Amino acid sequence: MKDSFGRSITYLRLSVTELCDLRCRYCMPEEGVCKLRHDQLLSEEEMLRAVGAAAALGITKVRVTGGEPLTKPNILSICRGVAATPGILETGVTTNGLRLPELAAPLREAGVSRVNISLDTLNPEKYAYMTRRGELSQALAGIEAALRAGFDRVKINAVLIGGFNDDEIPALANLTRRWPVDVRFIELMPMAGNREFGPQSYIPVSRVLGALPEAVPQAEDGVARLYRLPGALGCVGLISPVSQHFCASCNRIRLTADGKLKPCLHSAEEISIKGLDEEGMREKMRQAIEGKPRCHDALSAESRSHAARTMNQIGG
Ligand code: SAM
Ligand code: SF4
Repeated sequence: MKDSFGRSITYLRLSVTELCDLRCRYCMPEEGVCKLRHDQLLSEEEMLRAVGAAAALGITKVRVTGGEPLTKPNILSICRGVAATPGILETGVTTNGLRLPELAAPLREAGVSRVNISLDTLNPEKYAYMTRRGELSQALAGIEAALRAGFDRVKINAVLIGGFNDDEIPALANLTRRWPVDVRFIELMPMAGNREFGPQSYIPVSRVLGALPEAVPQAEDGVARLYRLPGALGCVGLISPVSQHFCASCNRIRLTADGKLKPCLHSAEEISIKGLDEEGMREKMRQAIEGKPRCHDALSAESRSHAARTMNQIGG
């Protein structure tokens, strides 16, 4: 279905939980999030009903996210249901990768075709610092497990943070020489909960090209501008939600774990679909798509996102 600005909305980001086994500093508070009551969360049946309603309106791609989706006990059954929904042509998962050693093969078997894994640094101390508790070796084992499981495409997402990992651009990009993966650098977004990051943390992804003079431009892939290092097996991608937003070609809506549709990542507007039947959900989705704003306000360290949630409560 098209929104009121003529954009075709074909992509749903489905958050299945707010909970996470990490506490990335740019994403969620150290104390975690207050656990919602069971009856405040969408049930698996409601999630799949929502996916059916979305498919009826022309959504063809679903990305399962969170929080950490792989901490959800029924994640395989959710993914199987999403992938089996008529009209859904592509089911992906975004994960920190820690649980992929056990779950990569079952996810593939459940019909997930794509996996994006978040990895911001190759330094174990920096990884432990930024995630407040993670072990780098586990995330790397997760990437290897995903590659063994044979997903269509494995992407590694690195949030680029000035003073933290801008010195690791060549090392992270070199992963495309070691593995058949795309490594995508994403600009840090100024959300309500991450004020500890000052203006120096917000650097444009164009900085990546300065550090990779040998990178050769390739075709675009969705919101990512792609480059390839000579001899690499995958591409380096640049995603610039802050320095050069992509609202004009935005094709997505989001559904939170507690059943709120978000027409725009950076707006406070939410539409509840919890408890509705499929027709009711479809009508609310139509309303969310029709009401998608043309664009969000400019983002910077001083002018923050209007989303009234932390990123783990939205799904990225
Ligand atoms: N836990 C999973 C993971 O980390 O991949 C999925 C959920 S996480 C909220 C989805 C994506 O959002 C991750 O790639 C994460 O790095 C990104 N993210 C979280 N907070 C962000 C921020 N403030 N700016 C840019 N990206 C952010
Ligand atoms: Fe958890 Fe992902 Fe947020 Fe990190 S970015 S705290 S792994 S939800």
